[in-house]
Amino acid sequence: MELKIKNFMDLVNVRSQHEPEFLQAVEEVAEAIIPYIASQPHYSGNNLLLRMVEPERVIIFRVPWVDDTGEIVVNRGFRIEMNSAIGPYKGGLRFHPSVNLSILKFLAFEQVFKNALTNLPLGGGKGGSDFDPKGKSDDEIMRFCQSFMGELFRHIGPNTDVPAGDMGVGAREIGYMFGMYKKLRNEFTGILTGKGMSWGGSYIRPESTGYGTVYFAQSMLGTRGDTLEGKTITISGSGNVAQYACEKATELGAKVVTLSDSSGYIYDKDGIDEEKLAFVMELKNVKRGRISEYVTAYPKAQFFEGQTPWSVPCEVAMPCATQNELNEEAAKTLLSNGCFVVSEGANMPSTPKAVEAFQAKRILYAPGKASNAGGVATSGLEMSQNSIRIKWTREEVNEKLKTIMNEIHESCIQYGKQEDGYIDYVVGANIAGFVKVADAMLAQGVV
Ligand code: NDP
Repeated sequence: MELKIKNFMDLVNVRSQHEPEFLQAVEEVAEAIIPYIASQPHYSGNNLLLRMVEPERVIIFRVPWVDDTGEIVVNRGFRIEMNSAIGPYKGGLRFHPSVNLSILKFLAFEQVFKNALTNLPLGGGKGGSDFDPKGKSDDEIMRFCQSFMGELFRHIGPNTDVPAGDMGVGAREIGYMFGMYKKLRNEFTGILTGKGMSWGGSYIRPESTGYGTVYFAQSMLGTRGDTLEGKTITISGSGNVAQYACEKATELGAKVVTLSDSSGYIYDKDGIDEEKLAFVMELKNVKRGRISEYVTAYPKAQFFEGQTPWSVPCEVAMPCATQNELNEEAAKTLLSNGCFVVSEGANMPSTPKAVEAFQAKRILYAPGKASNAGGVATSGLEMSQNSIRIKWTREEVNEKLKTIMNEIHESCIQYGKQEDGYIDYVVGANIAGFVKVADAMLAQGVV
């Protein structure tokens, strides 16, 4: 079996040798799926995985815009339309200077499995730009978004491809892009999710990724007759996912003691309660400040420059910042400090060695493609509401989100439960996602 996986990875390597993040994501899936395909004769001989790793379409385009000093700046825009076997391409847009083809292909590939896991009719895609929103004025953000949509609008549509937000793309950016699409097409359609509440958005969409990550942790704890009540939690990041993971975990009786950004982390041993979180939301979403400013407002807390929060003792860790932010050393530190639940809010935040360390210790470890699927699931619910032109209440959407996260957890158990009773959520999530997409691809022929 190892040889089969190696041969497959060699093939992928030929075309993608300069795409390390993409190769990392493919290898994790291949390790789970290739043995599974071998045990299921009807999947064999169809080169399904080989077809899945090749995007259906990659669009790369120039994004020229004028900054506040009058200088013309050129960024690169991308949209990876990875797989449409079970629905229109769906996946976020990331604006961050690190964005490149490898990162977006890894995210698009993960998205295919994640979207299938939600049981909603959503294909997989991802896009974005190497544009850095940090330090830009609102006018600059608007001009960039308009230029970006000036090309992207040709490739998306409510039945084709429906992007959403991701790092660096929140309500403000979605608004500017939606406005430009509407002007260019002269139609008001649900071509983006994460829209404002008064113009087609869904309740709970901003909260959904963070909330879903917490619901998933709660489900995992449930398999051991435990809950989040009274648990100490470390969270990384202080953006959209981190903020709402913090909110829901606190609401469920846990104590969140860390948040971070790319300059370091804050540790508040008394817990980041509702009032402190409101301060963080204002700081990050409105003033666009740095997390280090937390300690000015709350002097009992500490700021650790240039460090990640994984050395802080906790029972539950939720990495909610970015890919590969939690390495083997950090994983071992977490384990030795008693951490026994890891629910990933970010995409692929744990390195392969870190995942190995978690699984070797048989802790409750959920990969992002399962635990952070609440975001895209609620985007799917936003699309449904747009299509039938109604708006569900906050409570209705939250209940649907809970149900979907619970079903994803059940699917992981169905395909990931090992002989010794340990639930391998990586294997479970990958196989459950694969089965849905593979069945649709088989039915639709070689296209
Ligand atoms: P935001 O842009 O809102 O926040 C990102 C946070 O991560 C910021 O606090 C940022 O700090 C921090 N960060 C970025 N790079 C690094 C780094 N190298 N080291 C430490 N911290 C870093 O993004 P989101 O919260 O939306 O996304 C976070 C993660 O969740 C991403 O992996 C994303 O793909 C994933 N995700 C998001 C979904 C969504 O609905 N938004 C859905 C599913 C997954 P700084 O401000 O300094 O850059």
